[in-house]
Amino acid sequence: MVASEPALSVVVPIYNEQSVLPLLVARLRGVLDALGEPYEVVAVDDGSTDNTPAALLAARREWPQLRVIRLRRNSGHQPALLAGLMRARGDYVVSIDADLQDPPETIAAMLRLAQDQNLDIVYGVRADRSTDTAFKRWTASVYYRLMRRIVGNHVPAHAGDFRLLSRAAVEALRELPERTPVLRLVVPWLGFPSGEVTFEREKRAAGHTKYPLSRMVALAADSITSFSAAPLRVATWLGLAGVAVCGLLVAVTIVAYLLGATVSGWPSLYLAILFLGAVQLLCLGLLGEYVARIYTAVQARPAYYIADDTRATAPAPAQVSMVDSLE
Ligand code: UDP
Ligand code: MG
Repeated sequence: MVASEPALSVVVPIYNEQSVLPLLVARLRGVLDALGEPYEVVAVDDGSTDNTPAALLAARREWPQLRVIRLRRNSGHQPALLAGLMRARGDYVVSIDADLQDPPETIAAMLRLAQDQNLDIVYGVRADRSTDTAFKRWTASVYYRLMRRIVGNHVPAHAGDFRLLSRAAVEALRELPERTPVLRLVVPWLGFPSGEVTFEREKRAAGHTKYPLSRMVALAADSITSFSAAPLRVATWLGLAGVAVCGLLVAVTIVAYLLGATVSGWPSLYLAILFLGAVQLLCLGLLGEYVARIYTAVQARPAYYIADDTRATAPAPAQVSMVDSLE
């Protein structure tokens, strides 16, 4: 019988992975059975169109800990991951890719670290990316550098979506009002005590990548706009620069006019165009500022999280008498 509250849930988003599935089941099961703790595997079938759904249900017959969630249509890696996280029941929840690029053996190390050091988040950090293409390595390094600037240095570099979350961290995610958080940025932002386990990223076990360039660009755009309103302010800066240049050119034009080095009618026309251009950009920037405020209000993320509050737990009697005697 499967325990009602497993100690560990492993969430696996799966999209058209029929060739990987047998390898995944064999390897993951070996690791999880050896842990000696009750677990569940939450396989999220992201609207696969190949034999994946049937293969999952077949695997489930021999592996009662395998739970299969099927999304109605292909929704993408992040939404599939989120669906699994929101429905996982374990005290700890690990998310892992189906293609065995993240070695399942690392799960044991993550769990041990979290339990020993009482951590809420353990990131799987890629020790080396030599199995990735040079292009992927370069785009990833630009991405992580940019994200650390925008979100903060607590975003671990080269930590993808292979990570462990405690129940408390999953509940914090669940309470976020956002519908489509970029998990690898929002999770560090939650501010829980965290650790890292390094691993060697392996080659895809079978099949081909489901992350074409267009999806990588979409993820990068999502990542930037979900944490920064800076692009909206570009117009403000351009407008201000325009005003400064305009001031300079006004001086130049007046000098040229006084020297008689202008065509009649040119200074007024020229200055009007410059001035209007700058004013328009400034107004656009101003609109951007308000849109930015609306955007953060709509995101409705909490401004802070409290880690501890001594009032929330009953104070020890000795402390009470001390406070009493002071008053
Ligand atoms: N995936 C998914 N839905 C998608 C695309 C991918 O659930 O629309 C899954 C996929 O099955 C795999 C994981 O997300 O388990 C990572 O995808 P992939 O390995 O293709 O990405 P890469 O490692 O090449 O970046
Ligand atoms: Mg992969």
